[in-house]
Amino acid sequence: MTQQQLQNYAKLIAVKGLNVQDGQEVWINAELDQPEFVTMVVEECYKAGAAKVVVDWSHQPVSKLNATYRSLETISAVAEWEKAKMQYQVDKIPCRLHIESSDPDGMKGIDQEKMRKASLATYPIIKPYRDQLENKYQWCIVAVPGKAWAKKIFPDLPVEDAMEKLWDAILMTARADGEDPCKAWDEHNENLKKRCDYINSLHLASLEYRSSNGTDFKVGLIDEGRFCGGGETSLQSIFFNPNIPSEEIFTSPKAGVAEGIVYSTKPLSYRGELIENFSVRFENGKVVEVKAEKGEELLKQMVSMDEGASMLGECALIAYDSPINNTGILFFNTLFDENASCHLALGRGFHDCITDFEKYTQEDFTKMGVNESMIHVDFMIGSEDMEIVGVQKDGTRVQLFKNGNWAF
Ligand code: ZN
Repeated sequence: MTQQQLQNYAKLIAVKGLNVQDGQEVWINAELDQPEFVTMVVEECYKAGAAKVVVDWSHQPVSKLNATYRSLETISAVAEWEKAKMQYQVDKIPCRLHIESSDPDGMKGIDQEKMRKASLATYPIIKPYRDQLENKYQWCIVAVPGKAWAKKIFPDLPVEDAMEKLWDAILMTARADGEDPCKAWDEHNENLKKRCDYINSLHLASLEYRSSNGTDFKVGLIDEGRFCGGGETSLQSIFFNPNIPSEEIFTSPKAGVAEGIVYSTKPLSYRGELIENFSVRFENGKVVEVKAEKGEELLKQMVSMDEGASMLGECALIAYDSPINNTGILFFNTLFDENASCHLALGRGFHDCITDFEKYTQEDFTKMGVNESMIHVDFMIGSEDMEIVGVQKDGTRVQLFKNGNWAF
């Protein structure tokens, strides 16, 4: 990793990730791991025209202490100043950047039941603000190495070497290691768009997945739905890239239409704990059975968070031969691992996966089958021999994936 590459990565985040506009505010969430890099990003945001850049620093050991010591009552309450902050966001619509670096095991041992109850209590208070902001602002999630995270991925290396290796992996998978990452992202977006355009031209009614590990599964798609990928456009008509890296083409499937069983192909890191080698079986669109070699209780709890938690909110297609999968690294972080291979998500669907979504109300989305839930959790099902067939309304079958990769 060179200083020039870091500079290019910081610029990529400000210019192509957030696409900061003249006079806009930028809010950044970052851990204490890489203050020099965060400083570079702040400068790039100002250079791109930001009027004000605010960094909200956090430190995972402090977050863990809060989760441990605070009572259910205090973590279930949303203070007036926190509401005022959300209202400010609704009024000003700042760009939001999340820079991840925390330890995947850093919250291990906290009381999951207490956290679940707290989420249930705060969700209805936060939701109206979130609804008012939906699709209005540019946001982006990126990652930088943290010491514990790097050691988790490369346990046999000294910490400095592990950090260096993780930087290289992040820059490579973010397509930020070359001469001109901004140009690389323009080309990448163009490629993803071509795939989306083709799949959308098929007007598929359902997807069928099959794999030698036992996955045998069918999911219905929404008539008005569409596949999206790469960058998106906010309601303010600003094009931005919400995830760096991003390899997926995804849609919101029809909640309540799914049959069969899927087997995980990577561990799922949920609430700071790992769920491993698991399967999820669907009947009439709902999860009816989950099994896991590790973390089964947590998985059961996850799918029963609320009604929508047992239904699907996302189907994402990613070639098994993807830059992230090719690193051979398990990142223990969804941003990377979800872009390694095909995945599904339980919980909340995406309104912007509906064509002309700005025309519709919440009621319309629910009627169409866009799932609603307080959770949205991705889990990997892509394998090297996965076959995916798209079924059109008249029953015509179109091969989308063959041997884990795109068939077109
Ligand atoms: Zn996804």
